[in-house]
Amino acid sequence: MGTTLPNPNHYDAIVLGGGTMGTAAAWALGRRGLTSLILEQFQHVHAMGSHGGDTRVIRHAYAESPEYVPLVLRADQLWQELETESGQQVLIRCGGLELAAPGYDHARLARLSADEHGLPYEWLPASEAAARWPAFRIPDDWDALYTPSTGFLLTEPALRGMAEAAQRLGATLLEHTPATAWGSDNGSVWVETASGRYEAGALVITAGAWAGAMLADFGLPIHVRRKTLWWQEVDDVSRYQPDRFPVFIADSSAGEIYGFPIYGEPALKIANHAGGDVVDVETVDRQTRPGENRDCLELASHLIPGVRPAVHKSAVCLYTMTPDTDFIVDRDPRSTNVVFGAGFSGHGFKFAPAIGELLADMVASPTAAPIPRLSLSRFDLAPSTAAT
Ligand SMILES: Cc1cc2nc3c(=O)[nH]c(=O)nc-3n(C[C@H](O)[C@H](O)[C@H](O)COP(=O)(O)OP(=O)(O)OC[C@H]3O[C@@H](n4cnc5c(N)ncnc54)[C@H](O)[C@@H]3O)c2cc1C
Repeated sequence: MGTTLPNPNHYDAIVLGGGTMGTAAAWALGRRGLTSLILEQFQHVHAMGSHGGDTRVIRHAYAESPEYVPLVLRADQLWQELETESGQQVLIRCGGLELAAPGYDHARLARLSADEHGLPYEWLPASEAAARWPAFRIPDDWDALYTPSTGFLLTEPALRGMAEAAQRLGATLLEHTPATAWGSDNGSVWVETASGRYEAGALVITAGAWAGAMLADFGLPIHVRRKTLWWQEVDDVSRYQPDRFPVFIADSSAGEIYGFPIYGEPALKIANHAGGDVVDVETVDRQTRPGENRDCLELASHLIPGVRPAVHKSAVCLYTMTPDTDFIVDRDPRSTNVVFGAGFSGHGFKFAPAIGELLADMVASPTAAPIPRLSLSRFDLAPSTAAT
């Protein structure tokens, strides 16, 4: 009797979409002793989806809801572990300044979140904040919250580090391999690609802005928004370095405008979290147009007068929005071995390694329940029984 050789096309899990959350899920699966095949339609790390633009804010005092705080604290711990394991810096902790015009509540909600979780912060008179960070000119009637644990993540080293860690733990990464269909039967899953069909015990779908198509059966209430990012020239780059200029978020009639200390490029990166055209991911205009930074420049002219109108660099990136801006991390109600993460609504990156763990836990344990706030059941979706 011959021995049965392991099937090289059979993995514990297939990860459909090797971007932010898919790479994090593969790393977490590996840490649980599970092999995975990551299918990525483009190269690993690219500018076509939601992780382009070099940097992402990480903050703990979470204005969106205190419920996210344990998740971001766990993610922060994992980002630090990744740095130790990869020997590469991924997180620069420069502190964060949340500013809010009268009637705007981002800073106040962040403070409530910090209070609920005992996180350190300083609630500062505007004049004191402006004295500490002289690049800012802050109106007296604005709120100012400083959180020392805020910082920014370097997207490329973060994603490469997680992919390399996953590969050391048994993941295989296939780039330029778009998945065209998937399904599940009898406890296993299959995914079709132009280069072949792959099978596994479980499927993790993390398709980002393509989730609407890859999860079409569920009729998820998500839409894609086109966002622009701007690296503006400044009066004196030395004033905006991470050791003397914080990440900032300014909530006002101009929108929710945020920015980073100067890092990597000799210009200040600034963007508006609010707004953005609803687009189709296949036809979206990936070029920025002159004048699209109007809101950022208007805010900067009042708040950071050293920001100049000249653009050093710009980029287009995509948000995948849910109606309540909370994420969707759940499993297929028809097949417990199909799990998915979608609708990260423009604020998911900081959480990635923790989301990876949630997805890996749902793969490892068919009874692991989703976090209610992130569950599919919060939407009133018509049940579907069709196989994809
Ligand atoms: C401009 C901008 C600024 C942001 N700022 C912040 C911030 O400061 N802090 C923060 O925490 N978050 C921020 N975010 C949000 C964060 O970046 C996203 O929530 C996160 O990157 C989403 O991860 P994802 O895995 O869903 O998408 P992605 O990282 O885009 O990954 C999805 C992947 O799936 C692949 N894929 C899709 N379909 C297929 C298929 N059929 N076959 C194979 N592969 C497929 C895609 O090519 C892609 O690589 C920002 C986002 C943008 C756009």
